[in-house]
Amino acid sequence: MSPKTTLLIGGGHTHVVVLREWIKGNKPAGSVTLISEGDYQYYSGMLPGMVSGFYKPEECRIDLAELCAQAVVRFIKARAAALDVDQKIVTLDSGERIEFDQISLDTGSKTRAPKVVDADGNLVNCSSLDTGSAAEGVLPVKPLALSFSVLCDLSQAQTASSVTVVGGGAAGVELALALKHRLKKQGGDQPVNLVVGAELLSDQHQRVETLAAQALKQSGVVVYEGRAVVEAESVGEARGQIISDQGGETEAYREVDNRRHLADLVTLKVGSERITHTWVISASGAAPPDWLSGSGLTLDQGFVAVDQFHRSVSHPEVFAAGDVCARQDVTMARSGVHAVRAARALAHNLTSEEPIAYEPKKHSLYLLSLGAREAIFSFGAVSFRGRWVWRLKDWIDRQFIDKGSCGV
Ligand SMILES: Cc1cc2nc3c(=O)[nH]c(=O)nc-3n(C[C@H](O)[C@H](O)[C@H](O)COP(=O)(O)OP(=O)(O)OC[C@H]3O[C@@H](n4cnc5c(N)ncnc54)[C@H](O)[C@@H]3O)c2cc1C
Repeated sequence: MSPKTTLLIGGGHTHVVVLREWIKGNKPAGSVTLISEGDYQYYSGMLPGMVSGFYKPEECRIDLAELCAQAVVRFIKARAAALDVDQKIVTLDSGERIEFDQISLDTGSKTRAPKVVDADGNLVNCSSLDTGSAAEGVLPVKPLALSFSVLCDLSQAQTASSVTVVGGGAAGVELALALKHRLKKQGGDQPVNLVVGAELLSDQHQRVETLAAQALKQSGVVVYEGRAVVEAESVGEARGQIISDQGGETEAYREVDNRRHLADLVTLKVGSERITHTWVISASGAAPPDWLSGSGLTLDQGFVAVDQFHRSVSHPEVFAAGDVCARQDVTMARSGVHAVRAARALAHNLTSEEPIAYEPKKHSLYLLSLGAREAIFSFGAVSFRGRWVWRLKDWIDRQFIDKGSCGV
């Protein structure tokens, strides 16, 4: 195979494992570069455990520069701002343009977040974090570097009457339970709300939903089911009251990799009820990234349309995996499990002219943490709850950080 210029964009779950595969074996001939917006890839599966107080953020992340050095791959810390697949050029946020022969995208998804308005009805939060601008009031769980940073000390909760998680999927449930556990442990008595929308854990087996609903009730999380957020208004009072980690100074926002979270509180209208002066964390599903909209790639509802080889259906020199892609041949959930498992095929396909397919299994193992050191085990129709399930999850998650094994 003739030497090529290979670009990997985004140091997400798939590319981390791709790099680890290349350390063990063949990597593409020619130059290979990883471009990612932060120095670290944070592991989403450990976010709830970090919020509970079981891990420090440093234990939940992978150093991308170090990994690249081991794989003999160049690392550039930058955000990809635009892609032109016909010209084969990526433009970085600095304006620098980089050419490629083949490219692989693993930049994840955005988190859907309620639009927040001020008292005059003007939009104050940025629903698109692609540009790196501020998220006001509502904290989206993605980008992970930002949510790990903000949620590690919960100082923002001190000024709020309550904490509200929006999103009734696995991430929302885990976060609400983790927040409740941590606030209780810290002696805080604020209510934790979970706004579920139509149905709790609608994509999971009925038994998982029952077990999770039981855990939420036992821990005292207030669940708003069958109701969605219809309005979100910034209260703004918390600005400047957040105590920073360094020296007790006040700060109005937290900034990581040029992404900002402003410390505003919000009044939410959920159905016909109001939740006032609440701190909102959004975990309500994957939205497509904006930066690929003018790329020339065939997109499926904003996500990169790929085949079984994780190759773009319109441009064979473009690959995509993880949350940023949409498989055209099968229905595949956006999850860390598939992001990680697709990596072996992708590592091979970027190296060889004879591609191999990633075939998602019918069932995947899901382990849902419940705030304290307890979790739900779920595989197909089998599900149960236990303390040893948490120990299993802890072991699997640490394995991923240390070795990149496909344990999510
Ligand atoms: C709280 C929580 C818990 C979860 N738990 C589980 C679980 O237990 N099991 C499971 O299967 N799934 C879980 N998920 C879902 C899982 O997080 C996602 O499916 C997974 O993160 C997808 O990985 P990814 O590689 O596509 O993207 P990401 O992990 O989001 O990685 C994308 C990377 O690209 C970088 N990036 C983004 N845009 C750019 C750009 N323009 N230029 C350069 N770099 C960029 C980002 O900084 C990041 O490093 C959970 C999600 C959350 C929020």
